[in-house]
Amino acid sequence: MTTHKAHCLILPYPAQGHINPMLQFSKRLQSKGVKTTIAATKSFLKNMQELSTSVSVEAISDGYDDGGREQAGTFVAYFTRFKEVGSDTLSQLIGKLTNCGCPVSCIVYDPFLPWAVEVAKKFGLATAAFFTQSCTVDNIYYHVHKGVLKLPPTDIDEEISIPGLLTVETSDVPTFEISPESARVLEMLVNQFSNLEKVDWVLINSFYELEKEVIDWMSEVYPIKTIGPAIPSMYLDKRLPDDKEYGLSVFKPMTDACLNWLNHQPVSSVVYVSFGSLAKVEAEQMEELAWGLRNSNKNFLWVVRSTEESKLPKNFVEELASEKGLVVSWCPQLQVLEHKSIGCFLTHCGWNSTLEAISLGVPMVAMPQWSDQPTNAKLVKDVWEMGVRAKQDEKGIVRREIIEECIKIVMEEEKGKMIRENAKKWKELTRKAVDEGGSSNRNIEEFVSKLLTITS
Ligand code: UDP
Repeated sequence: MTTHKAHCLILPYPAQGHINPMLQFSKRLQSKGVKTTIAATKSFLKNMQELSTSVSVEAISDGYDDGGREQAGTFVAYFTRFKEVGSDTLSQLIGKLTNCGCPVSCIVYDPFLPWAVEVAKKFGLATAAFFTQSCTVDNIYYHVHKGVLKLPPTDIDEEISIPGLLTVETSDVPTFEISPESARVLEMLVNQFSNLEKVDWVLINSFYELEKEVIDWMSEVYPIKTIGPAIPSMYLDKRLPDDKEYGLSVFKPMTDACLNWLNHQPVSSVVYVSFGSLAKVEAEQMEELAWGLRNSNKNFLWVVRSTEESKLPKNFVEELASEKGLVVSWCPQLQVLEHKSIGCFLTHCGWNSTLEAISLGVPMVAMPQWSDQPTNAKLVKDVWEMGVRAKQDEKGIVRREIIEECIKIVMEEEKGKMIRENAKKWKELTRKAVDEGGSSNRNIEEFVSKLLTITS
């Protein structure tokens, strides 16, 4: 039996894009001799379609065990109750683990839940915040938190220049609808920095080479360690036996259907399309996208979640998509991105999807929807030069001609050659970062060795 010298309790915000990287980071820690336990809410666990992981999972409560965030109605209601019930149930879990002979030494928490620091301090535990967004986006929210920047910007033509950050336009900063509910979401994002001065580490799911300047700048303010990309090691060439897929998912991937179909497509011929686990795409946009894909004359694999399906144009799946495309409700995204038939990823630029495309060297057509996605799209296009950004019209819709043009640039035109080459370059740099001696690997080792010293 392995004896672990340190035990990290991992507390993700219960959403797919947060659980995925925190689970992968947990596995990385376990491979370096640290025991990890994930504390997931009962409501998240209840909807879990896949639960296959070497990491222990324990339940806590957000106060809405039947339906989580949806049951709460508003963000304010959800976060208020989660803080209260979450603090209690997390404390009980720490007590239970101590009684079972597995005392916790450190809480690695999602900064969406900053109250975890108070729980950790009550038990005298070390703390690490784990940011699931890019360091650039963290820097933007930090400056909003400090009152230096206002979101949404007041002047739409304004150029925004803040320390540690490239100069960006208003269309590149995180966006939110103007509504009381969106204002609460922004408040929560900015609130990630509350309690941050009390933590021992700030872990970021990124890697140094990707965001050097901003990481250097943020490191002056917080004890930053970039540890990403937190994706299963097998996709980065280091095959760990149990490391097949994400393991904790609320969606059921249509794995066989996707892989069988992809296996029949020529190399680099397929556009993979997904807007992640949350985005609600307008029906008009879905229609433009459908026609853009169809007119590009490329093969496509399009993930349309079941809750979005009714927005597809009538008969699209039966008639228009059947010759060239496959529409599925969820796919094993990493296996898809790794597949040799994939030539381009049309993405909403969620941070996990962006990192996954970088790691697997797939050039992107960026179609950001909201929150941090416009900033990630800016980085994809202008900093890493690994994709194009599909321009919206004044109604906020990307039209079919633009979609078709973007796909062709990225997949076949001479104009896109540099993008395709850069995709390969970033794939290599990602591997270096996580390999022996690489920036992220070194940071994880330093984290583990410090953890062992403070807990021994
Ligand atoms: N994903 C997946 N299958 C799909 C679509 C998405 O496994 O069909 C995964 C994807 O690999 C990523 C996560 O879901 O890890 C989505 O996270 P991201 O940050 O990109 O977007 P969000 O869902 O948070 O908007």
